[in-house]
Amino acid sequence: MTRLLLKSARRYPSSGAGLEDLLIDSGKVVQWIPSGSESPSVDHVVDLDGRWVLPGFVDSHLHLLYTEQHSRQVSLAGKSLDRCLSDLKDAICAESALVGHGWRDPLPDEMQPTPAAFLNHHFPDKAVLLWNADFHRVLVTPTILQQLGKDPGHPGVLVEEEAEAAWNCVKESPAREVPAACQRLLRHGITAATTFDRGESIRAFHANRPGKEGVYIRHGLPEEEFLSMDPAEALPYGDREDDFAVRWVKIFADGTLGSRTAWLKSGYTDDPENLGIARRSGDSLLSTAEAAGSKGWGLAIHAIGDAAVCESIRAIHSARMARSGGLDVFDRIEHLQLLDPGDISSLIQSGAVASLQPCHLFEDRKIVRDRWGKRADYSIPFRFLLDQGVPVITGTDAPIEDLDPWADLYAACERVDRNGNGDSEGPAQRVLFAEAFHSKTAGAAGANFLPEDYGTLNPGSRADFQVLDNDPESVKEGSRSGLVDVFSQGQWRLNEGRDFQ
Ligand SMILES: [Zn+2]
Repeated sequence: MTRLLLKSARRYPSSGAGLEDLLIDSGKVVQWIPSGSESPSVDHVVDLDGRWVLPGFVDSHLHLLYTEQHSRQVSLAGKSLDRCLSDLKDAICAESALVGHGWRDPLPDEMQPTPAAFLNHHFPDKAVLLWNADFHRVLVTPTILQQLGKDPGHPGVLVEEEAEAAWNCVKESPAREVPAACQRLLRHGITAATTFDRGESIRAFHANRPGKEGVYIRHGLPEEEFLSMDPAEALPYGDREDDFAVRWVKIFADGTLGSRTAWLKSGYTDDPENLGIARRSGDSLLSTAEAAGSKGWGLAIHAIGDAAVCESIRAIHSARMARSGGLDVFDRIEHLQLLDPGDISSLIQSGAVASLQPCHLFEDRKIVRDRWGKRADYSIPFRFLLDQGVPVITGTDAPIEDLDPWADLYAACERVDRNGNGDSEGPAQRVLFAEAFHSKTAGAAGANFLPEDYGTLNPGSRADFQVLDNDPESVKEGSRSGLVDVFSQGQWRLNEGRDFQ
C-alpha cells in the first residue's frame, strides 16, 4: 500500500479549481484537494510545481508488436531507387529475409516490366519482401514467389491476402518484442492500447504480461484464427480489470484508399469502373458475425470505403442480435474512412463505435478528393459522427503513421498537413481539442474494454496519468509536449519521478 501526494498540479481537462493536490493510494485516485489545504499523511510527496497532470492516452488502433519489428526494417519512403538499393544492401543478413517498407506507386521504370526479376538481379536468390506504404501490398523476389507456388514470371506485387501469405513466409516471432513495445507506448504518454497484430502477437502477450510493463493491452483476434479454432475454445479472453484481454474478432471488409482497394458504393472518381475490393461481404461476413456474437465476441471490422462501412453495419447488427447476456463489449468499425451520410441512422442503431485515425489525413489529404470527389466531405467524419451521437475513439495506426497521439489530436482539430500547412481537408469535420482529447482518454475506456472510469482521473479510477511541462491545448506534436513522466499501475515509468526533485 503506497500513498502518494502530488502537490500543485494543473489538472487537464480542467476542473476549474486552480492548482490542486492529487492523492493516490495503491495506484488509484483517492481525491483532488485544493492546493494549500492541510496535507493528508502519505508515504511520498512530489511537488509538481504547477505542471500539468492529464490521463494517459489510449491508442485505440495500432499494430504494436509489428511497430517494434517495423522500426528495424529498411525504410524506403521518399528515397531514390539507388538509395533504396544501397540501404537494402547494407541491411542484408544471412539468416533472415530482407524486409523493407514505404514504397508508393508508381514503381520506377527501371524496375519494369518484372519488378521481382529486377530485385532478384540485385539480391540473387535472397528472400526480399518490401511492403508498400499502407501494408496492404508487397513486392517480393522469386524466392518467395516460389514458396507461394507462383509462376516464375510473376511481376512480384501481391495484394491483401496474398501479401499476408508472403509475409507469413518471412516473418519473425514477435514474442521478444513485448517489453520494448510497452516502453515505446509509455514514452509517448500512452498507458493503454488496442492492437490488431496477428495471432502470434496474442500468444506473445499471454507469455509476457503487459501489466508488468505498466500498460493495458487489448487485442483483436484475426478472423482466420477465429474460424480455424476449436469452437469450444474460440472464446473471448480477459476482463475489464485485467492487463490483457482479447475481446473482438477482427475482420477485413476491404482494403485501403492508397491501394484503391477500399470498397465503394460507386466507382472511384478518377477510375469510374473500379469499386475497390470487398474482402468480406454478404453471407460469409454475416456467418462470422453471428458465430462471433453468439460466443460473446465483439466485432472490430476494418472498413475504409462507404460500401464496406455499410456492410459492416449489417454485420454488427447480426452480431448484436446473436450476442446474449447484455452488451458488455462494444462493436467497432475500424477506420470508417468514408461514410455515406444516408447510412447514419443504421450506424446509430447498430450501437457501433467509430474507431478513427485522423492522422491518416496527413497523407490521404493528397489523394482523397481525386479518388472520392465530393464524397470526401464525409471522409473521417469526426464532427458529423459526434453531432449524431456516435461514440468516437481514435488511434494512430502505428506503424503506418507515427506513434504520436498529439499529432493525431492535431490532425483531428485542423486536418492540415503534418507541418501545419495547406488547406484544411474537409474543414466541416474538424473537432475541438477537448473533443479529440476525450476520444483518446475517458471516451475510449468502454470501447476498449478498460477498467471502469479509466482515463478520467476521477476518485476511484486508475491513477494512470502523464505529467507535462506544457499546456496540452498548445501541443501539436509529441516531441514538443514537454512530457516529464508517466505514472501507471502504481509506479513512475520513465524517470522514477526523479525529474521532480
Ligand atoms: Zn490498422
